Amino acid sequence: MDAISYGKQFISDSDIEKVVEALKSGWITQGIQVDKFENLFSEYIGVKHSISCANGTAALFMAVNVLKNSKKKVITTPNTFVASANCVVLNGLGVDFVDIDEKTGLMDFRLLEEKLQQNPNDYQGVIPVTYSGLPLDLEKLKEICDKYGLWILEDACHSPGGAYLNSQGLWIGSGSCTDSDVAIFSFHPVKHLTTGEGGMVTCSTEKNSILLKQERDHGLVRNKENYEVPTDDPWFYEMQRPGFNFRLTDIQAALGIGQLERAHENSKVRARIAGFYQDKLRGVGDIEFQEFDEERFKHAYHLFVLRTEKRRELFHYLLEKNIRPQVHYIPVHLHPYYKRQGFHEGMFPKAEVFYKKCISIPMYPTLRDEELEYVVDTIKGFYS
Ligand SMILES: *Cc1c(COP(=O)(O)O)cnc(C)c1O
Repeated sequence: MDAISYGKQFISDSDIEKVVEALKSGWITQGIQVDKFENLFSEYIGVKHSISCANGTAALFMAVNVLKNSKKKVITTPNTFVASANCVVLNGLGVDFVDIDEKTGLMDFRLLEEKLQQNPNDYQGVIPVTYSGLPLDLEKLKEICDKYGLWILEDACHSPGGAYLNSQGLWIGSGSCTDSDVAIFSFHPVKHLTTGEGGMVTCSTEKNSILLKQERDHGLVRNKENYEVPTDDPWFYEMQRPGFNFRLTDIQAALGIGQLERAHENSKVRARIAGFYQDKLRGVGDIEFQEFDEERFKHAYHLFVLRTEKRRELFHYLLEKNIRPQVHYIPVHLHPYYKRQGFHEGMFPKAEVFYKKCISIPMYPTLRDEELEYVVDTIKGFYS
């Protein structure tokens, strides 16, 4: 039996056919597949503009580069993948963190507001992360950020298909940029959709959409309405701010189109798997689940996270039983680079405790019933 991993991609025969068609089409990068993928993604997420790119990290870099201003620092959560903070540093800005709520693993907005009250002029933006697939109340966050003039970049890598209920009783999709400036996604194989490597930036304004398209393409402007120096020369293009090449290929986009076809269905399967784990594992040992208001938040279940005092022992036990869990996340501020910037243990105690207790167990749509039973029985076996 193959090991059962915490996450896994699913590539169907029809996905493969789409990729082969793209390969044979004579146009393998930045062609009709990329346009189609971006349009279908916008429809799925419920957003105006989607700009595809090389990966989630590139998406974060591009987004910060477009949003940034002259203020010193940007705030994110320590309970995330390093890329959510690195994108700030790589843009020449300072990063700071706000601790989490231990029940959800998400940034605690009360602590954010305290930090902003203490130093209202230091910060220019916030990068909230929908950790594990649980959306944040971005309407609430926007209220706080508007008060202090901060932009919001939602790292929605974990939550395509997730949503929160706003004060008008409307469901607001994660990444829809209803209450944020820009959002980003990753198409790495462990995420909901994969293109091998790949990413997407979403936004609601034409202005940001144009800037983001320049960002992924060397900073080049290719439509003459936007030239600084007017010309009709047919070969012309203009570089207004230097950029990287962060483009997605048509081969990858074709795979993404195939993956999107199953996105709704896969979200339902993820929710069903979560329900199964909650039924079977509630009350087992000292296991704790993420706690959230199901009336107000639709969890996208990128991860299924348990917390236990026996995390280390459980992790090794599962490995022995051919189950490959993962730990999300080593708090970002405890990595050597960030320690050298002055961060240290004890600064964000809830994220540090969360890290000691958390374990992500298998969660992906092609998990078979007998594999799910095996995971549950093995965890019960550990505690008995
Ligand atoms: C995966 C991930 C990223 C980075 O995406 P890549 O495509 O791997 O570069 C950034 N933030 C979060 C929260 C992620 O899970």
